[in-house]
Amino acid sequence: MTESHSSAPSHDEFGLIQWIRDHVAGQSSLPAVSVGIGDDAASVRLAPDQARNSECLVAVDMLLEGVHFDTATATARQIGRKALAVNLSDIAAMAGTPIAAVISVSLPRRVSSEFARDLHAGLADLAAEFDVALVGGDTNVWDGPLVVSVTVLGRSPASGPVLRSGARAGDAILVTGDLGGSLAGHHLDFTPRVRESRLIGDLVELHSMIDVSDGLAADLHHILEESGVGANIEAAAVPISPAAITAAASANASDARSPLDRALSDGEDFELLFTLSNDDAARLLNAPPCATPITRIGEIIVEPGCTLLDAAGNPTPLAPSGWRHQ
Ligand code: ADP
Ligand code: MG
Repeated sequence: MTESHSSAPSHDEFGLIQWIRDHVAGQSSLPAVSVGIGDDAASVRLAPDQARNSECLVAVDMLLEGVHFDTATATARQIGRKALAVNLSDIAAMAGTPIAAVISVSLPRRVSSEFARDLHAGLADLAAEFDVALVGGDTNVWDGPLVVSVTVLGRSPASGPVLRSGARAGDAILVTGDLGGSLAGHHLDFTPRVRESRLIGDLVELHSMIDVSDGLAADLHHILEESGVGANIEAAAVPISPAAITAAASANASDARSPLDRALSDGEDFELLFTLSNDDAARLLNAPPCATPITRIGEIIVEPGCTLLDAAGNPTPLAPSGWRHQ
């Protein structure tokens, strides 16, 4: 197992999250809750009559040594940077603007104080790049592995956060960047799509959005389930990372997955996956507001489920875990 692969949640984690979501369902009627459990970030009203663009987005993500990174292959700076980057990606997925972050670190007794400072430097560099204030945290030293948990606060866009649940039949499905490069190390140095999210959101009306953390197929299924719709994906349109092509060519027999399969099922791309009307999609693709590529990969349909269409239009079911040669 690679670092990146094992970071995708198991079904038990999804089951537990669903149980917690059901358990706190009554709280979603509290006036403070604009968006509760189940999306990339929560959105909280700090005052009862608050305008949507001043709602507070909240996201937290925890990175575990041996699961999300390995101190043998990642530097302290890379680990710190990634811990913030994954959270900024979740705020971007709501079309929000990250504002401030608090950091919890459980430091193994074995690491040096230089390592701890480098970890902070990695966080601070990325925070400065996105004008995010590091406003607090908690530090403990113990005999266990390194754990870094970052909570980020953000501002919702004026029209309200873009949710996983807003996809409509007839929407075009678009994705930023390319997919499948995380195992080649991209998961340690990706740039969260905060700027792209804002530029795209300023230009068109986004119906739904998620960041690709579990893999394109899995994260598309989150949108489909939350929105109660289905999707057709055109295999030939999926933007595949050059690293996925290289990895497929050089992989040994135990990992004979095609570049497409890697792009569909490998997690931690941290690209934005979003849906919008066909007219808005055409406008966006004709005059992209950012240098990061934007690609149309399919459409939302009424019938639930997800289908992968090959170049000849032959359908294959696309499971949340991705696609396999049969
Ligand atoms: P992401 O991949 O975008 O970080 P997750 O799959 O981690 O999203 O989480 C899905 C949803 O479940 C989010 O809304 C998250 O806040 C919520 N969640 C996860 N773990 C817990 C928990 N222990 N208690 C409450 N909510 C949780
Ligand atoms: Mg997310």
